[in-house]
Amino acid sequence: MRVTICHTSGVKASSVQSVCALLNEADKQIIQVEQGALDAAAVDAVWQAHVTDATTDASWDLIYAVIRDLRVQLDIDDSTTHFVYLLTEKANANRWFSFHEPIGTGANVYIHTADWGGFMPGTSDFIFPVAHLVASNVLHRLVYPLMNDWDAAAHDIPEGCLMDKCMNKREIRLKLKAVDVCPLCQPDYQRALDEKRLHPNVLLDGLAMLEKVRSRFLFSDRTGLQKQPSRLEVRKHDGLLFLTDFGQLVPLPPQHWALYVYFLENAAERGIQCHQINQDRLLELYQLVARAGDLGAMIATVQRMCEETSFNTKISEIRKHFREVVGEYLTETYYLWPKRSDSQRMIPLDRKLVVVLDRDTPS
Ligand SMILES: [Zn+2]
Repeated sequence: MRVTICHTSGVKASSVQSVCALLNEADKQIIQVEQGALDAAAVDAVWQAHVTDATTDASWDLIYAVIRDLRVQLDIDDSTTHFVYLLTEKANANRWFSFHEPIGTGANVYIHTADWGGFMPGTSDFIFPVAHLVASNVLHRLVYPLMNDWDAAAHDIPEGCLMDKCMNKREIRLKLKAVDVCPLCQPDYQRALDEKRLHPNVLLDGLAMLEKVRSRFLFSDRTGLQKQPSRLEVRKHDGLLFLTDFGQLVPLPPQHWALYVYFLENAAERGIQCHQINQDRLLELYQLVARAGDLGAMIATVQRMCEETSFNTKISEIRKHFREVVGEYLTETYYLWPKRSDSQRMIPLDRKLVVVLDRDTPS
């Protein structure tokens, strides 16, 4: 069972990557969540080919046609064992946050990503709600093949059940904590299992993903009050930084990643200035994550990174990336030392929170 996620250009690729990483962190048997091999511009083009009237919100039928077309472009056949999701900031005519295409066609799901701000901690706020919707829509689609059936079965008044309707985005905080199927809804799930529409492992995987989202959300909800830093995974095998407890990636480009990891290694107690950097070590880190390029070009890049102007620019760009994910306070207090006149830079984060992973480390 696969879940392939596409998104329009109004949705940040790094946020989608965070959603996939969060869901794949769950202990699963058979569901794999992945980003589709279509870039946002290609998805935009498919959207525009079907939704030609930009003045009104797209009807569900048009959106189904968009996702079906994405399915063709991705070369995925119409099967209920391969879900295709469209994440978009573009609204739909009925103003639902998510919905799936009826039975008889592929398992196609739409999720609205805009306007979650203000209800979630941090600034990349859609990750928890959207991850929850990705996981729950797999189950909804298999248990209630028609949206009308789902609509009739769902609770208008929240029961702490997976089938609670979320009528406005303010209610999402409550919904994120609901990962159970209540006794009222259990017969529907049982029937889906009996009729083999829902595989028992898919049910378990769906619930495991929801539980992962819930626990991460509860943790980050608390850190919103306490403002504690998250553990930080430095992933040498894929060049990512992952804030484990927030379920979020910090999307740093390769040069920024190398510089940041260099600082993690070398600037715990004392700050360093750009001319003090050991360029051989910085080059090693950069080589881990730079896509390609010959050695000479990489050495030149590293030399440039250590020149004061370029160095300062990189630091301020790193700051911007962190701020977008964890906000000003955590960035300045833990992840990057504030601007100072003597230009010494350091990262005060407690190194016990730093976990370094590479290819040989089981994750
Ligand atoms: Zn229920």
